[in-house]
Amino acid sequence: MRIEDFLFDHDIEFKTKGKNIGKGNIGIKCIYCNDKSNHLAIKKNNGVFYCLKCGERGNMISLIVDLLSVSKREAIKTSSKYDGISESHGSPARSCQPVSISWDTVMPPLNEKFLPSPHKKYLEKRKFNPDFLQWKYNLSTPKIYNVGDWKHRIIIPYFDKKKIITYSGRSISENPKLKYFHLSEKKCIRTPKQVLYGLEFCSKNIMLVEGVTDVWAIGDGAVALSGKQLTPDQEILLLEHNPKKVYILLDPDAIEQAKDIANRIRNFTNVEILSLLRGDPAEQDQNCLNKIKYLLKK
Ligand SMILES: [Zn+2]
Repeated sequence: MRIEDFLFDHDIEFKTKGKNIGKGNIGIKCIYCNDKSNHLAIKKNNGVFYCLKCGERGNMISLIVDLLSVSKREAIKTSSKYDGISESHGSPARSCQPVSISWDTVMPPLNEKFLPSPHKKYLEKRKFNPDFLQWKYNLSTPKIYNVGDWKHRIIIPYFDKKKIITYSGRSISENPKLKYFHLSEKKCIRTPKQVLYGLEFCSKNIMLVEGVTDVWAIGDGAVALSGKQLTPDQEILLLEHNPKKVYILLDPDAIEQAKDIANRIRNFTNVEILSLLRGDPAEQDQNCLNKIKYLLKK
């Protein structure tokens, strides 16, 4: 809302829906590349931006510096007039921090600006675009990333209604003992099993998948169960969302669990079980992923 006020006041054309504009984003013509149609996406909730065309990214302060050709100090002054734009990197961890938990005492200081190169390489090897994922899903690492509980892990925040409710760390090692390190139950507001990762990016059709990397691979419409079961809390969230159709796409070893989920939600929504011949969704080729994405757009 406030970012829109800023753009309006400065006569900068923007769009909140239409071509290239994802849910929760504001699109403007990118000033960093030869862009003709609103590829620069600004997240409404925190002002972090990413150009879908040239990959330039930053926060509202850096954008104001470049848009208005002003100093950083002036940009901060300008931004202070618009509540939704803050001087921080724009991490929801700060702006949406719930009073009951102080993440600062629970989490190591995070580097939210960029992923270090070992973490980027890990994602690239799995055919992800690290910069895009970091922007879209607010990924980070500890500032000192080679010691402590979170060492060599990509830190993934879980959101519920725009608030961070917990974090987990995905190992970037080749054969880790623990693929995911979750915050203990005591330290988080809700656990990954109590939310649906990716729900904020869903509209009419939803696809239930097992893990966050499956969500990253499929994109908008996919939500992760963080396991093979749909918990009662997740079931409520799913039905509250009121989807037109729910696809269930678990790994090939979880057909029974998929049937169980389908039976539980069949009375509330249209449901279909999909199956892969091998591997999880994140391991499929682009052709297969496109077919999956197409189902969600229908
Ligand atoms: Zn651009």
